[in-house]
Amino acid sequence: ENPEIASPVRTRAIMETYGLNFKKSLGQNFLTDINILHKIVAAGDVSENDDVIEVGPGIGALTEQIAKAAHQVLALEIDEQLIPVLAETLGQYDNVTVVLQDILKADLKELIRNNFDGKHPIKVVANLPYYITSPIIMHLLDTKIAFSAIVVMMQKEVANRLSAQPGTKDYGALTTRVQYQMECKTAFIVPRTVFIPQPNVDSAIVVLTPLQEKHLEPYSEEQFFSLVKGCFAHRRKSLWNNLQGIYGKNPEVREKIQQVLTDLKISPQIRAERLSVDEFISLANKLSEAKI
Ligand code: SAM
Repeated sequence: ENPEIASPVRTRAIMETYGLNFKKSLGQNFLTDINILHKIVAAGDVSENDDVIEVGPGIGALTEQIAKAAHQVLALEIDEQLIPVLAETLGQYDNVTVVLQDILKADLKELIRNNFDGKHPIKVVANLPYYITSPIIMHLLDTKIAFSAIVVMMQKEVANRLSAQPGTKDYGALTTRVQYQMECKTAFIVPRTVFIPQPNVDSAIVVLTPLQEKHLEPYSEEQFFSLVKGCFAHRRKSLWNNLQGIYGKNPEVREKIQQVLTDLKISPQIRAERLSVDEFISLANKLSEAKI
């Protein structure tokens, strides 16, 4: 039997056998530490009850460990050169399907219909390509698929932003956008030394799970998201200044905004980072009631 894919020796051997180079442009930093892989699978509490979508299987190091734990695995890889490699490295796992797809263009609902039986909770587990971490998370959340967990490795700094609390320097538009839909926790930090090639940054595993308590409902998600973006446009400026940046300086509009803030007991002089997700939603809804 072959040794685990996840070791520096086997990783280099596979790359050499297939004459492959690590593609920096595709964020190819492969995990070579079996303990970290076990920890990722454990962080997602992946069991034979779960169907799992993996983004970017690479040469299959993480896929292999998910396959051992899960019911079915569907892995989406954009690099066509890796497809024949994966066919071999994962050949012994009959619960794995690899498809050549760009995650950002993939129709996940259709893939799920075609590959899973609809009887198992669906999780996402991935060591993400770092150049598109946020777009991938947005794409996953935009589908509104009820994932029972999303377990993703990313640059530590981005992980800090996802799991930030209001009032901290890491709390921003991305935090609010993601925490609007999911609970976010950083599970553990991963040093750069366990990858080949080594990235220039440390990483962290973030676990997103369904909300325990529902948020208020925005009248319009689009309006809520764009309000949040606008309020964080200039982080060092006050909420009031950013709102003027969004809505202009027309005196009537200013007065209405002033009134909305008073009604909500939000001081115009605070910075946006102090507002919770629910406060942003209330603000968005009140502004729309005031026809602003
Ligand atoms: N899962 C492997 C591991 O942990 O060793 C590889 C992770 S590597 C950080 C990211 C992987 O995502 C690479 O295999 C890369 O080719 C793939 N990838 C990059 N952009 C992608 C995209 N848009 N859609 C799907 N896969 C992508």
